[in-house]
Formats: sequence, C-alpha cells, structure tokens
Amino acid sequence: MSDPRTIIAALQSCNTILISVHKSPDGDALGSQLALMLALEKMGKTVTAHNLDPVPEIYRFLPHQARIASGPVVTGRFDAMIVLDSDPPRTGLFAGDYPAAKLINIDHHITNPRLWPLTWLDAAASATGEMIYKLLLEAGLPIDRDMALCLYTSIFTDTGSFRYSNTSPECMRISATLLEAGADPWLVTENVYESYSFNRLKLLGTVLGDMERSPDKRMAWVVVTDELFHKTGTTAEDTDNFVNYVRSVSGVEVAILFRQTAQKQYKISLRSKGRVDLSSLAQALGGGGHKNAAGSTLDGTLEDIKRKVLGEVAKVILSQMGN
Ligand code: 5GP
Ligand code: MN
Repeated sequence: MSDPRTIIAALQSCNTILISVHKSPDGDALGSQLALMLALEKMGKTVTAHNLDPVPEIYRFLPHQARIASGPVVTGRFDAMIVLDSDPPRTGLFAGDYPAAKLINIDHHITNPRLWPLTWLDAAASATGEMIYKLLLEAGLPIDRDMALCLYTSIFTDTGSFRYSNTSPECMRISATLLEAGADPWLVTENVYESYSFNRLKLLGTVLGDMERSPDKRMAWVVVTDELFHKTGTTAEDTDNFVNYVRSVSGVEVAILFRQTAQKQYKISLRSKGRVDLSSLAQALGGGGHKNAAGSTLDGTLEDIKRKVLGEVAKVILSQMGN
C-alpha cells in the first residue's frame, strides 16, 4: 500500500502522465481527474486525460473538461499512468496491458483489489477528490479556483450533497477551504441537480410508475430497458441517481436499479440505508463499491439477472438483519 508522499516521489522523475477514471464517470472521478491534471501541469508535467466514456452533459461545466479525451483507443506511451476512483480494470481501457512504466492507483473503494504496487487506498475518504486534496497539500501545491471547483464537485457529489454516511468533519473542513479558494457551490448544484432534460424527468416518471418491491417490503427495484431509452429519447446518463428514489421509500432497506447495457447485459446499482452492507455482495457479483452504494454488470436475460440478484440481495438482508 502506498501513500501520498510515495506517490509524489514516484512522480518526480515522470514527464508524461496519463490520467484515467472509471467507465460511466461521475462527479468524483471527473473532479479528481481535472484537479490532478491542473496540478501536475503546474509542476511542469505533460498530462493526458483519457477515459472510455465521454464527460456526461451535467459535468460539462467543469473547467477544462473539454481536454478529457474519450474512446477505447489511447495512443502513445507514458512515464506514468494514474487511475482514479476505481481499480484499473474498471477504466475499461487497455485490457490489462497498460502503456506506462509506473502505474499509480488512487481510490476510496473498499473493494479495490489493490493489485498495483503504487496503490493508495483510503476507504474512509468521502471521495477520491478528498484524497487528491491531501495529495496536493502534501506536494505543497496551491489550489487555485478551478482546482477548488473540481474538488468541491467531487466531495459534494460523492457525499450526496453532504447527506450520506461518508460525510465527515474532515470533508466539510476541506470543502470550506475549497469554497474559500473560490469554488461556487450554486454553480455545481445548478449544473448537477437543476439542469435535467425534460425527457429525463419523463423517463423517471415511467420508471417509478413500474417500481416493484418484495413481499417483506425491504427490497424495491426498477428496470430501465433499451426500449424505454429509445421511447423517451434518453441515454444511460439520464438514469444517474434514479436508484436513490427507490431507496427513499419508507421501509426499503436495499434498492436496486437494473439498467440494460446490451441485448443480454444489465448494469445493476445497489443502494442500502445502512443496515445492510452491499460491498461484498457486489464483489461476489463481479463488481464492487462501498457499503451503502455498490454495483456490477451482469450478462444474461433480464429475467435471469433479476432472479439471481433479487435472490442474493434477499439472502444478504436476511443474514444481516434477520426476519
Ligand atoms: P453506481 O451504482 O452509482 O454506478 O455505483 C455505486 C458505487 O459502486 C460507486 O462507488 C461505483 O464506483 C461502484 N461500482 C458500480 N459499479 C461497479 C462495478 O461494476 N465494479 C466496481 N468495482 N465498482 C462499481
Ligand atoms: Mn468516488
């Protein structure tokens, strides 16, 4: 296991650096990536930011986001590659053959297998952005307004606007510093939570209209199919946060979103209210995440995947909460 000091030392001799984050990037991943990119450039490094998936519409207010390239092909070799907010395979890039001499992984997911020698994992960090803040502090790099906005976005989105259990005194202190450095909180709120497309809300209405729950009412779920995306003129990024509505039902302990990703493939998003730990279950299903928020992608028909996932979640609820 590595730490900020070791990572800074390892980067000293590197000139060209590639930074990548997980597929379907979120506010934490993108905020961390951009803040680190800007900081490394201040140190005189040549930085390439490249992810499998493009920056979602709601995050296009982030400074310099247009510099993040996307797609399955990354050309060139780099002195170092840094993967943020996920384990390296979840970038969906390179199939294990990474184009750099030094491989660095900075993440806060407890399920990260920690396979790279330069892995700094802090499962207690509210967001990867909190870790990047500490890295910059350790490196003695001043945080300018753009970097502050990026890191504030990381922490604000990954804590569910300072509502989830990962909200800590420390992340609030850091956020206060970021506001002092010039981050505009309403700019983030308006773009991330008050700029939904009309079609997204129509999709939400349809999806919630078909919400189901288990007989004991402790498990509830919704499904989004390709057909529904087509019918409503929406895409995967329009389902971001849908699962939280399902969790918000009184009595529900675990909420599940099944989102179609291919003809016979579904991404599942799992959310718990805190009495059920979902991280091991998600890992057993080939994915990962945190205690209260985890996910995976499964191959099969909707019917088979639903039967399997609902069965496994029911077992976990029973074993951790009893009858
Ligand atoms: P979401 O359901 O919003 O996609 O993800 C919830 C949490 O679980 C996030 O922290 C995300 O990084 C993690 N997660 C979601 N899907 C996967 C997956 O397939 N593999 C891993 N390792 N983590 C995932
Ligand atoms: Mn994160």
